[in-house]
Amino acid sequence: MSNAAQLLVSMLDELGHITDEPGRLSRTFLSPAMQRANRLVGDCMRAAGLKVRVDAVGNLIGRLASANPKAKTLLLGSHLDTVRDAGRFDGPPGVLLPIVALAELKRRGVHLPFHVEVLGFSEEEGVRFASAYLGSKGYCGKLTAKDLAMCDADGVSVSEAIQRWNGLTPGHSSKRVGVNALHLKAAHSKSNLLGYIEVHIEQGPVLEAKKLAVGVVSAIAGQSRFKLTWTGKAGHAGTTPMALRRDALAGVAEFISGVEAIARRMPGLVATVGTLTVSPGAANVIPGSVVHTLDVRHADDRRRRQGLMAIGRLATRIAGRRKLSRAWQRTQENGAVACSPSLTAWLEQSVKAVQGKSLSLVSGAGHDGVVMSALTPVAMLLVRCRDGLSHHPDEYASPKDLAVALAVVTDFLERLAKDQRG
Ligand SMILES: [Zn+2]
Repeated sequence: MSNAAQLLVSMLDELGHITDEPGRLSRTFLSPAMQRANRLVGDCMRAAGLKVRVDAVGNLIGRLASANPKAKTLLLGSHLDTVRDAGRFDGPPGVLLPIVALAELKRRGVHLPFHVEVLGFSEEEGVRFASAYLGSKGYCGKLTAKDLAMCDADGVSVSEAIQRWNGLTPGHSSKRVGVNALHLKAAHSKSNLLGYIEVHIEQGPVLEAKKLAVGVVSAIAGQSRFKLTWTGKAGHAGTTPMALRRDALAGVAEFISGVEAIARRMPGLVATVGTLTVSPGAANVIPGSVVHTLDVRHADDRRRRQGLMAIGRLATRIAGRRKLSRAWQRTQENGAVACSPSLTAWLEQSVKAVQGKSLSLVSGAGHDGVVMSALTPVAMLLVRCRDGLSHHPDEYASPKDLAVALAVVTDFLERLAKDQRG
């Protein structure tokens, strides 16, 4: 393994020990561990020749200016926050890998004809405020008044947390004034940017099945999430004849198998019922009501809507036949994000050069790239992870695979540089 790859692996290891909770890895938005993570990664950035700053929402930004001040800026990054009891590989490789690649190019005496910004986003996982992408939203100037008013488990609002982070004392009357004074606007205008590149572990099993270290993302899947409530009639499990029952759980069981069948029939559609609450919930009582979630994703928004319509018709049929009532509540809706064809083509060339062949993948998981796509074209490189496991302490990407990803990003920067020089 090259010295650069070894440096990457040891930095990932060191960062994996920076946590808010002893004994397990947890780093959440604007926490003390995030301060320490920013300090460590900031030092790495400085050592690679980058100029470092932390913005108002805690994003770590390292900038390498080109000799041409009028050049555009290429952004590379991912998130430094984690879920609770996390693994070490979800997020940090996308921040550390570009830093190591830039250090390697510096060592080789390669000067890039564009500016580069490496971004370590302060919030992607949605742990502290149950709402994801606060870091990239802040960077893009997209934090809304609704975002700023959300509160964590201790009743601290996003706005107050940001003010504390910036050393301001939140006061009731000056709450909004304080945040406005922090200039939460986009870090760049669209016209100044070349694009955003994110390296991330796959968090799925496809690369492992294909025996490939890395793959290139064609699109990030769009996602609809719902809370469904089915209501029938509770009754005695011994005395109510089968023909007279309105069993909500039996209806939901039929619905779940039907949803699975629909998703299996439609290529690329994934649909999941992940939680289920049965009431009243006793062995000798017919379930009177069931509340459950439904998560539906596809890389093509039209196909996702077709899938949802088929699922809706299924629910109507089951409810009608079983005399159940049902209510749908939409809790999340994100459109699919298509990756930039030109940046993706560059990335594919680099993957072919390093790995021999390239594989195109849809990212079923959401990423900072979803938010960044509103500011600039995005491209993503996924790295194989063991058993497709993520959001778990056993999450693992091998040093060998990370070295492949590092070689791809270094090659990509060189190709883009050659192209920009003309
Ligand atoms: Zn992630």
